[in-house]
Amino acid sequence: MTERDLGLLALRRDPRHDRIPPARRDDLVDAALRCGAEAADTVAAPFHADDVLRRHGITLVEEPTADVPGLVVLATYTATRRGGVVRLSTTVLDRLGDVEDVLGLPRLAIRDAVVAHEVFHHVETHTPGIVTQRAHVTTGPRLRRRRPVRALSEIAAHAFARRVVGVPYSPRVLEVVAAYVTDADLGRALVAEVADLRRPVGPRPPAP
Ligand SMILES: [Zn+2]
Repeated sequence: MTERDLGLLALRRDPRHDRIPPARRDDLVDAALRCGAEAADTVAAPFHADDVLRRHGITLVEEPTADVPGLVVLATYTATRRGGVVRLSTTVLDRLGDVEDVLGLPRLAIRDAVVAHEVFHHVETHTPGIVTQRAHVTTGPRLRRRRPVRALSEIAAHAFARRVVGVPYSPRVLEVVAAYVTDADLGRALVAEVADLRRPVGPRPPAP
């Protein structure tokens, strides 16, 4: 499973997926991965989450969260007038910390990866013309409305987090594992999607 495969999977979950011509999907995913990696190169190594947050004017709120069936949220980002707010779920982070040996990352690096992902959302919000905001599909009457492809932001944010923190795999894996340790049914559903993606695609059945 490559980063591009995971990206295509994310794209498939996007509500605009069917509007994207199949021939364009690989290119969009690759562009998002590049966008995240390039943004990562503007952040000094090694990554110090608290420094980066301070420099960008982002407030970090770490707080426990209640479980919502079928949904696992590690963190969220909200842009504000003067900066941004990242809310990180200590409930979900603690569960990932409990399996840090499986993940091959200490709890602190897991936290850094989650924070870094949200920092990318801040960066893209404040970077006019960035790929994740520029790429769009057209919808609506006579295809006039330009709509962003939200999945590309997620793909780029994972690529960014992977690079700045030095995670040896796509941090999307952290979300899948978080789903597993929170709601096994949800975790199984995500893995089934991956298996489905790997199945060879045959010719489309003829239209009825
Ligand atoms: Zn995100």
